[in-house]
Amino acid sequence: MKYVGAHVSAAGGVQNAPLNAQAIGARAFALFTKNQRQWQAKPLSPDAIDAFKANLQQVDIAPEQVLPHDSYLINLGHPETTALEKSRAAFVDEMQRCEQLGLPLLNFHPGSHLNKISETQSLAIVADSINQALEQTRGVTAVIENTAGQGTNLGYRFEHLAEIIEQVEDKNRVGVCIDTCHTFTAGYDLRTPEACEGTFGEFDRIVGFDYLRGMHLNGSKPDLGDRVDRHESLEKGKLGLAVFQYIMQDNRFENIPMVLETPDPDNWAHEIELLYSWQ
Ligand SMILES: [Zn+2]
Ligand SMILES: [Zn+2]
Repeated sequence: MKYVGAHVSAAGGVQNAPLNAQAIGARAFALFTKNQRQWQAKPLSPDAIDAFKANLQQVDIAPEQVLPHDSYLINLGHPETTALEKSRAAFVDEMQRCEQLGLPLLNFHPGSHLNKISETQSLAIVADSINQALEQTRGVTAVIENTAGQGTNLGYRFEHLAEIIEQVEDKNRVGVCIDTCHTFTAGYDLRTPEACEGTFGEFDRIVGFDYLRGMHLNGSKPDLGDRVDRHESLEKGKLGLAVFQYIMQDNRFENIPMVLETPDPDNWAHEIELLYSWQ
């Protein structure tokens, strides 16, 4: 079964996210469990946790179909010790919030080398950060997202994801999320069924579909290989619809949350309906 949704608002409290998902006909969703642009956050209250779990059950979405996203401030591959420690502590806090909400996944961007160290060195730091976070938490899988490769961001090659996974000790609690916009602007073509066959075949050889825990379904404003992270609605932009039809008809994408991060929330219900029409 396919589980499609969107990254919905948690304004007013995490307990509102499941209701916002239901309102657009989603069978899956993403959310931030704290303000994604601030380091500090109040702990989740027991009331908010209980209400989140009750609402999730009420809208009939399984915890496995929820893909929380961490704060954009966190850089688990940071070249400098003090800043790295700050990111690692914030990441553990994010994992613990997922644990409290009964959610088994946490999606994050791998990190940036900031031109201070090599990609390989920074990727090793990311892996070490994951190992430390997994040791301090239980039941939550670290889901690494591929990136557009903007600036000094890591994760724009499938090889980067594989390099991190290779150095993670508990392979049962590490996975990946593939973002269609990031994949395309990083230089992997997805505009035709043949191109999808090639790109996802490469993903399978280098990372493996066994590690796929989620998808971000986004159109792209930038063109192939531009290395810029700018999402577009599915029916607009440079990517086209072939990749989304391909994904909805391919059984390697079953039973994982597939989440829109497209720019127009008013269009999400339509985009979800459109995706389901291709099954
Ligand atoms: Zn994404
Ligand atoms: Zn993005």
